[in-house]
Amino acid sequence: MSTTMKSATASSAAPAVRSTSHMLPTYARADFSFDRGEGAWLFADDGRKFLDFAGGIAVNVLGHSHPHLVKALVDQAQKLWHTSNLYRISGGERLADRLCELTFADKVFFTNSGAEALECAIKMARKYHSVSGQPNRYRIITFEGAFHGRTLATIAAGGQQKYLEGFGPAMPGFDQVPFGDHKALEAAIGPDTGAILIEPVQGEGGLRSVPPQCLRGLRELCDKHGLLLILDEVQCGVGRTGKLFAHEWSGITPDIMAIAKGIGGGFPMGACLATDNAAKGMVAGTHGSTYGGNPLAMAVGNAVLDVVAQPEFLEQVRSTARDLNQRLAELKDRHPTIIQEIRGSGLLIGIKTKVTNTDLVAAGRAEGFLTVGAGDNVVRMLPPLNIGEAEVREAFERLDRACTALEQKAAS
Ligand SMILES: *Cc1c(COP(=O)(O)O)cnc(C)c1O
Repeated sequence: MSTTMKSATASSAAPAVRSTSHMLPTYARADFSFDRGEGAWLFADDGRKFLDFAGGIAVNVLGHSHPHLVKALVDQAQKLWHTSNLYRISGGERLADRLCELTFADKVFFTNSGAEALECAIKMARKYHSVSGQPNRYRIITFEGAFHGRTLATIAAGGQQKYLEGFGPAMPGFDQVPFGDHKALEAAIGPDTGAILIEPVQGEGGLRSVPPQCLRGLRELCDKHGLLLILDEVQCGVGRTGKLFAHEWSGITPDIMAIAKGIGGGFPMGACLATDNAAKGMVAGTHGSTYGGNPLAMAVGNAVLDVVAQPEFLEQVRSTARDLNQRLAELKDRHPTIIQEIRGSGLLIGIKTKVTNTDLVAAGRAEGFLTVGAGDNVVRMLPPLNIGEAEVREAFERLDRACTALEQKAAS
């Protein structure tokens, strides 16, 4: 009787909540949501409190509800939201001036996302060679394990089969070479090559850093062959590594750079930065975006820069990163069956695990500690850049408990 009841109930019961959602199920979402955030802490609807070292995937550089950003957004919201790029936008002009003052760049195009910043970078590189009388040089060399976004061009650039599968022919023009193989890279440069595109620190790919001498080698190679060097600093930029931009550690400068994530501090925005030379083909009418650089985004972008571009702030990021890395080295010694390696740069940190990385992410979550998985079996930590000693200690303690829980599970 009870068996009959059960099976009858099962077949007629409403499907689980998630399968009735009208959200396109492209994400394997955790089954809870947050109600508010404060600094490095997130408060879930069900009352739980989490230390947020996922940072909205490298976005919340100043944590949640930072008063300076809130004020900038609210002040702007009361004045003007959107006008389009048919008119001058003073906040955007100011942010572009400041970004150019702080970097190699002479020109900036604002976007709403990282992928769009890359789209602009790719179009710009192609146009550069086209207006230089070599339209054949549209090909761009990219690297295995790269991630540049989810648009058709950027999945082709990233070259990952799992993102390309089923979406028809990949957009042509990208040649992928193994990471860290200088010979293969040189061999891939042909008469149609126009640019090299690389993340100074691979984010999604598993926190692999390009050593400074390799970035310098890339710069030389580009100069030798007349190629444009495009850096994707969407994840590693905006203070994340302890410099405003990751390439500063190597002393080189790119011709074009895509940024996003951190520059909006949680407001959707991105930018493509370039030298005047690299941008020379991008004249009126060649590119556009309805929302790109709208007054709300520009107000927040300027506010983020007010804080993160301060030398003392970046010094503090480096010091926090040293502390955190010290604690993580200790953690690795305490849990040799769980942790294989600590890698990354600054506060873009990866734990390469000996267990399945998602198991450690889940164990951390059970301890109220949020991280993100990455390629190569890595658990990624992208805390707010303004965390202090207390949060570093909390992170260590929660991770320590998560590792212990995994050890106990393996032993039982
Ligand atoms: C996140 C990311 C992108 C794509 O940014 P979206 O805002 O998701 O389009 C591109 N490149 C890198 C390195 C990223 O981490």
